[in-house]
Amino acid sequence: MNYGSIGAVIGHEMGHGFDDQGSKYDSRGIKRNWWTEADLARFGQRTGKLASQFSAYESLPGYFIDGAFTLGENIGDLGGVEVAFHAYQLSKNGQPAPVIDGYTGEQRFFLAYAQAWRVHRRDDLALQLLKSDSHSPPKYRVNGILRNIDAWYEAFDVGPDNALWLPEAERVSIW
Ligand SMILES: [Zn+2]
Repeated sequence: MNYGSIGAVIGHEMGHGFDDQGSKYDSRGIKRNWWTEADLARFGQRTGKLASQFSAYESLPGYFIDGAFTLGENIGDLGGVEVAFHAYQLSKNGQPAPVIDGYTGEQRFFLAYAQAWRVHRRDDLALQLLKSDSHSPPKYRVNGILRNIDAWYEAFDVGPDNALWLPEAERVSIW
């Protein structure tokens, strides 16, 4: 649960070094392009896909997330969950995680990620933040991110009949 909550937050912050802004700076913090042309093109394709996904989410009736405005934070979330999940797997040293309260280790990881973003807001505050906050609304930091992660599908046996299912070709993985 720690890997899925604070681990994903730590991963998120690391991810900013390689998001749509951070990736423009080199290892010494100098703004210069250090990418190969091919890598940069693929990065643009993948991040563009992520931006399109988020722009399709109607967070409040008539009001959609701005996928370009929130892109850096969404890249941070996606990479953060992936790196934290990887760290969790390494932490098990090849041993299976115990089932606790009926949940596998992988399920607890993703449940903790979702629980970390629980929030309750009035619509007027939610609208204000939708227009001014570069983070996506918490619901989409969970639902919009996890549906891109193969391990989440495996953990909960998510299939085409489930609301958040995405065909594999539409899932985005950047780092
Ligand atoms: Zn951030």
